[in-house]
Amino acid sequence: MPYTEDRSTWFEGQGLWQHVPESDWKDWTWQLKNRLTKLEDLERYMTLTPDERAGVLFAGHKLAMAITPYFFNLIDRNNPNCPIRLQMIPRAGEGQLHAEEMLDSLGEDEHSPVPGLVHRYPDRVLFLVTDRCASYCRYCTRSRLVSNAQDYNFHPEYEQGLRYIESHPEIRDVLLSGGDPLLLSDRKLDHLLGRLRAIKHLEFIRIGSRIPVFLPQRITPELCEILKKHGPIWMSIHVNHPKEATAELRDACERLSFAGVPLGNQSVLLKGVNDDADVMKALVHRLLRMRVRPYYLYQMDLITGGAHFKVDVRKGLEIIQALRGHTTGYAIPQYVIDAPGGGGKVPVNPNYIEKITDEEVVFKNYEGRTFRYPLTATPVVEGETVEKPVKLHEELHG
Ligand code: SF4
Repeated sequence: MPYTEDRSTWFEGQGLWQHVPESDWKDWTWQLKNRLTKLEDLERYMTLTPDERAGVLFAGHKLAMAITPYFFNLIDRNNPNCPIRLQMIPRAGEGQLHAEEMLDSLGEDEHSPVPGLVHRYPDRVLFLVTDRCASYCRYCTRSRLVSNAQDYNFHPEYEQGLRYIESHPEIRDVLLSGGDPLLLSDRKLDHLLGRLRAIKHLEFIRIGSRIPVFLPQRITPELCEILKKHGPIWMSIHVNHPKEATAELRDACERLSFAGVPLGNQSVLLKGVNDDADVMKALVHRLLRMRVRPYYLYQMDLITGGAHFKVDVRKGLEIIQALRGHTTGYAIPQYVIDAPGGGGKVPVNPNYIEKITDEEVVFKNYEGRTFRYPLTATPVVEGETVEKPVKLHEELHG
C-alpha cells in the first residue's frame, strides 16, 4: 500500500507519560534520566517479537539500547514493522556478521592524529567530542565506539584536539560530532565553541546532531543563545522518516533557525524505514516545512551486524528519480555512498545523459523525453531561421 499521511497534523503531546508534570516532560534532563534502556523497560509497555527480544539481550555487546520517552511515543507498539521501532529496538540480526562488514567502515581510526580527531581531508577535520547519544540508532556507523558497549574506551582529548586545529592553518572547517555534541553541558559547549571561534583560520563550524530529533527539549533558549553568540554555527540533523517530524521537532528547528543556525538533514537509506519513494517524498516535504534543507541521503555504511538494514543502490536511485522533477528542487537530497575504507563521499545519481560528443549533449528529462544541448556555436547566416529548442526535441523523436 502506498504511504499516505495527514499533512495537516504534527504529532504532539506526552503520549504514554500523561501522568508526568509538563515541567518534567519538557526538561531534557528528565527525558535522559527516564530513558528506556533495559528489556524490562520495553516489556512494561509492549510485547516484543522473539527477534527483538534476542536483539535486546545482545545489544549490550554491540551498541547499548536507549530510547527517550519522547521518542518512544512515536513507536507503533502493535506493529513490529514500524519504521521508528526498526531504528530503535535491536534485532537478532545485529549479532550476525558478514564478510563485507567492518568495525571501522570509514577508516577513521587510521586518520586520527590525536584521540577524537579525524583528519582525512586537507582542509577539514571531524572532532568527536563524546561517545554518548540521547538514543541509539541500531545502524550507527560509529557503533564501535558509541555507547562504549564494545569496550572501545573512547576518551576525547579536547585540549589536544584544539591545539592540533590551532597549529594546522590549512584546516578551515570543523565538524563536531560523536556521539552527540549537544549532550555536552551548556558550559562545555560554550567553552568549546568559543575556543574554536577564536582560531582565526577556522572559517566554518558545524555540528552533526540527532538531539533535536530524540530530545527536542534540549534546544533551550540558553543553548540557542550560545549557538547565536558563536555563530554562524551550521547544523546537520538526522531525520529518516516523516513520523519523526513532530510538533516538538518543528518548534526546536524554529528556535535553532531563529538563532541563526542554518539547518540541513542527513538521512540513511534503511530497509523497511524509508526505502520507498512516497515515504521519502513525505519526509522531504516535512523537512522543508520545518526550515530544514534535505542535504544527504546516505547509502548505509558496511557496519558489523547491519545487513538487515541494507538497501539495493538501484532502489536508492529509483527514489531520487521519483523526486527529481516531481517535487521542489530544494527538497532533493544528494544520494551518496561513503566509500568503504575511507574514500570519502561519492555522489550517486540516476543517469540522465545518453551521449556527449564535441557537438552536443543528449539527455533525458524527468519524464523520459530526450533533448539535446548543442556544444557548438554556429553563426546564423543572414536569411536563415534559428532552430527553436522545441524543434531540437522533435527532431530526435522524428
Ligand atoms: S545519533 Fe548518530 S552517533 Fe548517535 S547512535 Fe545515532 S547515528 Fe550513531
